[in-house]
Amino acid sequence: MAPHAPVILAGLASGRSPAQMARMTGVPHQLLFGLARHNTEWAKQFEEALMEGRNPATDHGTHAAYRHGCRCRQCRNLIAGYRQRSQRR
Ligand SMILES: [Zn+2]
Repeated sequence: MAPHAPVILAGLASGRSPAQMARMTGVPHQLLFGLARHNTEWAKQFEEALMEGRNPATDHGTHAAYRHGCRCRQCRNLIAGYRQRSQRR
């Protein structure tokens, strides 16, 4: 993971999705997000790269953006919210 981090961050910052970067580097994209929950330094860099690379023309925090592969915090919060609500049922 560590040797790939700069490549992944640069790719995200240039607009590629975490899934694309996972395919390119062979690092599972679950690991990218999982690590962000525990490693605050990675989380900061990861979020910054996602924010830098996200499409400014897209309405974030919507299904449309999420379907386009955007995983910025806003778009992920939308999905996380749905998951929490459906688990309560
Ligand atoms: Zn987004």
